Amino acid sequence: MFTVTKTIDFCYGHRLLNYEGKCRHLHGHNGRLEVDIALPSLDNRGMVQDFSEIKQALKGWVDATLDHRMLLWKEDPMVPVLRERGEVLVTLDFNPTAENLAKMVFEYASGRGLPVREVRLWETPSSCASYRAEP
Ligand SMILES: [Zn+2]
Repeated sequence: MFTVTKTIDFCYGHRLLNYEGKCRHLHGHNGRLEVDIALPSLDNRGMVQDFSEIKQALKGWVDATLDHRMLLWKEDPMVPVLRERGEVLVTLDFNPTAENLAKMVFEYASGRGLPVREVRLWETPSSCASYRAEP
């Protein structure tokens, strides 16, 4: 199996519900996505996939959808408050944990036809969550 990994950096705000740690308050992260693309054989260029093709498929979506956005669970009581103030929000069907965000990116990449193996989201330089396809 061959694997290539594309890294995409982005900034996001969030807070977690049903959680007692620091992430229960509105705050932000400098997140780093690592997207693994894997295939058992190489194409006629000798590649799994051109890095620029992966970037083209994902970075524009990350920039437009996640970068410098406040990502909140749609159940969060702050959603109507911030909307009323004109803040740009992304409301999600799930708590915006690194695990759920990794899965969201995985599903987007898979939906674009990329043979994605695993997505990792580094929420901080020492904390990473991942989501991968079942073997
Ligand atoms: Zn956080």
